[in-house]
Amino acid sequence: MATYHGSCHCGAIKFEVEADLSTVTRCTCSICTKKGILLARVHPNKLQITEGEDRLKLYQFNKMIAKHYFCPDCGIHTFGHPRAAPDMFVVNVNTLDDYDVHSDEHKIRVFDGRNWEDAFAQSQGHGR
Ligand SMILES: [Zn+2]
Repeated sequence: MATYHGSCHCGAIKFEVEADLSTVTRCTCSICTKKGILLARVHPNKLQITEGEDRLKLYQFNKMIAKHYFCPDCGIHTFGHPRAAPDMFVVNVNTLDDYDVHSDEHKIRVFDGRNWEDAFAQSQGHGR
């Protein structure tokens, strides 16, 4: 576990997160594909929103369980609550400012969110 600092693109949203990034998740679902993000799941007490909490917008679709938070000014999705574990956070690893997402320091695990029910059954809740 290490502490990382994340933000949206314009900097209105800032957060601090304690995460293990040795394995991160790429999800094939419709919204993760369009966002092009990598995910790391963290316990809610490991994520602190340090700026802009009141600015966050919420986007939901389909089953209306997962919560996708984003900055209304720059449009970047910073974190959310996954459908597979709504009490947990998933962080958009690409928004961490002190972690090089283009490094090869992490393994990438694929969660087949396109076929969510099957993928969830297989992952026993480790997916997003
Ligand atoms: Zn922003």
